[in-house]
Amino acid sequence: MPASIGEFELIARYFSRPVHRADLGAGDDCALLPAPPSGEQIAISTDMLVEGRHFLPGADPEALGHKALAVNLSDLAAVGATPLAFTLALALPDADPRWLEPFSCGLYALADRHAIELIGGDTTRGPRTICITVLGTVPRGQALLRSGARDGDDIWISGTVGDARLALGDRRGEWTLDSTARAAAFDRMDRPEPRIGLARALRGIAHAAIDVSDGLLADLGHVLEQSRVGAVVEIDRCPAGPALAGQPIDRRRLCQLAGGDDYELLFTAPPRQRDAVQAAADACGVPVTRIGRIDAGPGLRLMDDDGRVADNVYPGFDHFRAD
Ligand SMILES: [Mg+2]
Repeated sequence: MPASIGEFELIARYFSRPVHRADLGAGDDCALLPAPPSGEQIAISTDMLVEGRHFLPGADPEALGHKALAVNLSDLAAVGATPLAFTLALALPDADPRWLEPFSCGLYALADRHAIELIGGDTTRGPRTICITVLGTVPRGQALLRSGARDGDDIWISGTVGDARLALGDRRGEWTLDSTARAAAFDRMDRPEPRIGLARALRGIAHAAIDVSDGLLADLGHVLEQSRVGAVVEIDRCPAGPALAGQPIDRRRLCQLAGGDDYELLFTAPPRQRDAVQAAADACGVPVTRIGRIDAGPGLRLMDDDGRVADNVYPGFDHFRAD
């Protein structure tokens, strides 16, 4: 067993890199950031990953480093913000370099891709918990909010949905995937891609947005509630990746509609913006699919490919209710 290291050595070795956009990074009592240019707002979000709740003991630390930051970046994406800086609070049972080294590599690799820099944080001994706060900027009045959906809007989803839930079901023993499907599904669950570029390109085009973390219908439900509108979702139009496309239809629907953890972007835009949405998606290299429409209500209704109304038996994920 390599010897554990102390808190200050841990920070110095794994979480201290020069900052470029901050005036002062980690090492003092506070980090300092220049005030944003006038006309910009700061977007802030925090997400926490807890061992045994969000990831299993023994989970690959490099993938965890990626995912811990990815889920936070996904919240910046959901409002159309540009990433700026983040803090990291880490509780660890021990300061084991064999965990810290790959964790910090996964974290920084994604941070570098999105030009977001680590400016501070905290470490303590405790059950393994990763808490990240991200800061971004967005032009005033252009943030994509859950409350912006309007009657007549198209409902769009980026990428494909359901693979993370497909992987979870395999892990839980609900079903067994073949090795190709398993590898693809677990990769989607462990390494989500925050849709930062797409969301920024949709500013001024989309009316509302949310990232899919709790489940497609559950997250759409948040949009409907805050926008005070209803919606029809054409459930068989939800895009599936190759691993999920080969599954029985009931499983596919469950994974796509109730499964969370995909971190795709769900957004609404008026039909006159269809070409603009498609152009934004093409420019970012991210596919988008229209899966329904917003209307005056009531609530959320599901329609299958044959035009039949389907029951909504797809509750989303709730941390205080789920097993
Ligand atoms: Mg979110």
